[in-house]
Order: sequence, then C-alpha cells, then structure tokens
Amino acid sequence: MNILVINCGSSSLKYQLINMKDESILAKGLVERIGIEGSVVKHKTPQKGEHIIKEPLKDHKAALKIVMSSLVDKEYGAISSLDEIDAVGHRVVHGGEDFAQSVPIDEKVMEAIDRNIDLAPLHNPPNIMGIEACKNLLPKAKQVAVFDTAFHQTMPSVNYIYALPYEEYEKHKIRRYGFHGTSHKYVTERAASILGKNVDEVNLITCHLGNGSSITAVKGGKSIDTSMGLTPLEGLPMGTRTGNIDPAIIKFLMDKENLSIDEVNEIINKKSGVLGISGVSSDFRDIENAAEKGNERAKLALDIFESSVAKFVASYLTEFDNISDIDGIVFTAGLGENAKTTRANVAKKLSVFGIKIDENANDVRGKERIISSEDSTIPLLTIPTNEELMIAKDTMRLAK
Ligand code: AMP
Repeated sequence: MNILVINCGSSSLKYQLINMKDESILAKGLVERIGIEGSVVKHKTPQKGEHIIKEPLKDHKAALKIVMSSLVDKEYGAISSLDEIDAVGHRVVHGGEDFAQSVPIDEKVMEAIDRNIDLAPLHNPPNIMGIEACKNLLPKAKQVAVFDTAFHQTMPSVNYIYALPYEEYEKHKIRRYGFHGTSHKYVTERAASILGKNVDEVNLITCHLGNGSSITAVKGGKSIDTSMGLTPLEGLPMGTRTGNIDPAIIKFLMDKENLSIDEVNEIINKKSGVLGISGVSSDFRDIENAAEKGNERAKLALDIFESSVAKFVASYLTEFDNISDIDGIVFTAGLGENAKTTRANVAKKLSVFGIKIDENANDVRGKERIISSEDSTIPLLTIPTNEELMIAKDTMRLAK
C-alpha cells in the first residue's frame, strides 16, 4: 500500500510518498512560496536525487498539481500512475474538541475542520485547501485527517481549563489543546518498544524541542498534560515565539511602544523567543556558535531555553506518585535529536531528582538511544521523531 502524506502550511507544502510494505520513502518534497512570487518545488527520490521546478503557483491546488505530475514523471518520478496512491494522510493542525483521533474524511469532518478555523486561522484554511485539491486530483484514494491536537484530547480538565471565567470555556472553547501530538505519540510508541513495555503501560515525559517546542506528560501511553495551549504560542520560549509571559505585558507594550494589538501579536510570535533574547538568529545552531564565541545574549538565550525545559519536566514529575513510576524522559525534534549540549544542560538542571546523563552515550545525533547513566533515577532517551510515518500508519489503518 502506498500512502501520500500531505502537510500544508500557509505558503508551503511538504509531502512524502511512503511504501507501507517496508516503510520506505518513494519520494518526498517541499513546495515553498505558494501564492508568492518565486514559487519553487524541491522534489526528491532515493534513486534519482533532487529535481527543482520553478514556476508560479497561485494556490495549494496548483502546488498539488505539480506534486502529482512530479510523482508520475517519467524522468524523475516514483510511480507510473496516480492509481498507485492508495490513500492520502493530511496533517491538520487544529481539531478542537471534535477529534480525539485520526478520521477518514467525509463532509462532516470537513465541516468540523472549518468550524475550528477560529482556533487556528493560519493553519486550518491551507489544510482544507490541501484536502479539497487531493480529493479532486485523486478521486479514488481514501483521504484521512490526522490532527496535531488529537493526542492531547485525553488530558483531564484539571490540566486544560484556564483560570478564566468558566463561561469563556463554555462559550468559546477557550482551553488548553496542545500541539505536536503526532510527534509526542510517535516517540511514545517508540519509547515503549525500546523500553520493552506495552504502550498503554508506559509513563513518560516527552520533550519535542525544535523551532517550535512542547513538552508532554504521558501516563499509560496517553497525554495527560502538555505545555502548548489554546495556540502553539504557550509554554517554552521557542525560535521566535515568547512561550509563557505575563499576559499584562501585552497591554504594557502597546502603551509604551504605541503599538496595535496586531503589531504586538507579530512581536510575540515572530520576533521573540531565542531570536528576541539573543538578537542573533532563531536557529539554535547559529545561537550556539555565537555563544561559543562569547556572545553573552546568545548564552543567555540558551540558558533561558534550557531552564524552561527543565522546569516543565520538573513540574510534570508531580503527575506521578513515585519517581520510579516514570519510565523515561524523551528528547526529540531538531534540537532534542541533535543537540547534545542542550540535552546535557537540561539533565544537569534536573540533577536534584537524581537524573544523570552518560556523556559518552549522549554523544549521538539523530539515533534512538538511551543516554542516561545506569544509576539515573529516570532513563533519558533520544528518539528521532517521524511525524510523516505516524500519519501514514494511521492513514493505512483507517483506509483498510
Ligand atoms: P525542527 O523544528 O524540529 O526542524 O528543529 C529545528 C531546530 O533544531 C533549529 O533551530 C536547528 O538549529 C536545531 N538543530 C538542528 N540540529 C542541531 C544541532 N546539531 N545542534 C543544535 N541545534 C540543532
């Protein structure tokens, strides 16, 4: 069975065609600058390498048309006919309270995704466009929606209700939803397998640390708390996002800098986080390089990020009765998988709980490995995430 995984962003589109027999990638690619001058498709197959197409793409439908023709191209394609695509798995960012798991797409599902646009105005509309385009281009293939929020729908109300007037939850569904659910779920399943446990018995704290970052407490294989909230702005400081700040800062900034709410929104989403603190970059590699050369603000940005990770992990320990009930702390995504210094510094900040990293084992990039020392109270693991494979697995299960 061949599954096409589609991830539509506001002006970009990522795709992977996966042969589920051996989970091999037949083709993958990235379309950038959709609807903007300079659209480009970077299409790759393992045998034929990269092929770049530059042509104007006015919307996601036009982008998907090029993706489909690339997949069947005689020279650089991966399959001979679109009929070889059995199903399409779509990453959908916000499922609100409507979806606790992935679902085959029908009219009711489309209506619910549309209803949740209020909660993710930048993300759900391109997701809808991608689904509509795939339905047209691949009328025979089953379409499945996999939600970023679904894994976190198991959170108890004690962890998702904000201390606002309760009517705001009742009227507008203002609550914690959490994101990166597909990644947290994938590493939960992998960690259970590595630790030799059934998924529904595994207790973890999973740290998805990348450009966007979130931490999740997992009990019995289910999300019970997570650091992102109503939107992906809450929680840890990120590449360009503030994470948690005093909400009073918003009005203070508007008054002091004479800014509109949209301008402040732009600052807290696009100009803050480690970029804002360091003034160097939103990319952690650039910040690490600057810190090594003695840039104090770059060092401060890393320190604040690492402290914040450790504090979230520490707060999630309270979800368990005994420290020995926790089977592992997992590091994943760009930084979690690759940045040994970040992992080591976070572990050091958690040493009060008897958490100890093994420096040799931690000297690893992009591999599944236990990186704690034998006497660590909680095992530490690094597990590369694979959201596309998780989406493809759910899609295969539901398309069958
Ligand atoms: P992601 O959003 O998961 O793709 O993660 C992207 C982030 O991971 C970027 O800020 C990268 O700088 C960071 N990253 C990737 N590799 C490394 C590395 N070896 N050391 C530090 N940061 C890294």
